[in-house]
Amino acid sequence: MSIHLPVSVVSLLGLALGLATAVPAAAQPAYSLLIKGGHVIDPKNGRDGVMDVAVANGKIAEVAASIDAAKASRVVDAAGLYVVPGLIDLHAHVFHGTEPDAYLSNGLSAVLPDSHSFRSGQTTLVDAGGAGWRNFLQFKTNIIDTSKTRVLSFLNIVGSGMKGGPAEQDPNDMDAQLTGMRIRQYPGVIIGIKVAHYNRGDWTPVDRAVEAGADTEVPVMVDFGGHFPPLPLDDLLNKHLRPGDILTHMYGHVRGRNPIVNEQGQVEPYVVAARKRGVLFDVGHGGGSFLFRQAVPATKQGFYPDVISTDLHTGSENAGMKDILNVMSKILNLGMPLKDVIAANTVKPAAIVKHPELGHLGVGGEADIAVLAVRTGDFGFIDSSGGRMKGTKKLECEVTVKAGQVVWDLNGRSAPDWSTMPVIPQSSSALPPRAGAPQK
Ligand SMILES: [Zn+2]
Repeated sequence: MSIHLPVSVVSLLGLALGLATAVPAAAQPAYSLLIKGGHVIDPKNGRDGVMDVAVANGKIAEVAASIDAAKASRVVDAAGLYVVPGLIDLHAHVFHGTEPDAYLSNGLSAVLPDSHSFRSGQTTLVDAGGAGWRNFLQFKTNIIDTSKTRVLSFLNIVGSGMKGGPAEQDPNDMDAQLTGMRIRQYPGVIIGIKVAHYNRGDWTPVDRAVEAGADTEVPVMVDFGGHFPPLPLDDLLNKHLRPGDILTHMYGHVRGRNPIVNEQGQVEPYVVAARKRGVLFDVGHGGGSFLFRQAVPATKQGFYPDVISTDLHTGSENAGMKDILNVMSKILNLGMPLKDVIAANTVKPAAIVKHPELGHLGVGGEADIAVLAVRTGDFGFIDSSGGRMKGTKKLECEVTVKAGQVVWDLNGRSAPDWSTMPVIPQSSSALPPRAGAPQK
């Protein structure tokens, strides 16, 4: 692996050696970062081969068969690795807070974005219904505005958000107009509407969400469990949802919702028909919504996901779900080609959230990049029933770049050797400034 020193280190070394006057001021390299020799998979631009990717000013600046390393102030050797657009998680729960009994809406069951995103190659997380119109500003102030991860939101059709229990069952708090007003206030940040957890056996939340979605031109994502007896999934997919709306938890089999694979082991014809008319299917693994008894027959019949997502929260992060790379690895081992797995986590969710600058490595696009390893060996994957499936491939994240900055570097591939670093005492964290204290 070749290491290229940042310009600042080179000039410091020059100073130390007394060469400052002897060396003419070098021109600033054109690129802040060059990822060299990796196998680029960029489905949106049809790229699938070994290429170099250069970054400048936080954007993709050049993608070519070979780019001169001297043109960059920092180089990552990606030989043997895959270079893909920064991953987008369409279904996560990151409205973390300490409000008692608040579940995934300013509650302790939601997790902090930066603690999970970059280490898994993710640069964008979409919170799936944590906040409703009433508490979206709290979500924005506390989480969206303070995270390095780009955080977007499916606004819950329930005004008070995903607080669990009776709060999510009140049709009087499902207002299409007020939801739409909040969406119009934050275009590009609120990118859709979520329906979840409703169990009173009528279509109120779905229809109100679709009404607000039609009004504001955003998609609706539905977690449809569980009604007793179940409302027909066929009616949801083919009568109530529009093309572009999303069924999440596609490989789940929970009480109170029809599974997509029936008792004869066949993907229901009405599910295939819904896909044909443009309804999208999202993994949304979670703690209880991914069963190999659904995923194996479905994928054998070619029914792969449109989008692969985590449903990240405290109930899934340490169970079968783990992280997005583990979920993507499951789908990869179920036979979905790697380039399609990457598309399901990049260009496809980028289109759903209507952020065309994301999810690809085209020149001028946002420099969000993941450098991934595909490890081979004997691996195991666990589903929501606790069952194990063996696999031979596993994805691992080596480097993550967000807006041109290296935000995760598993093996220090972007860093110079320690012995070249100047002797500079590091700042002490023993006495951090008190929050709110006046500046001296
Ligand atoms: Zn969820």
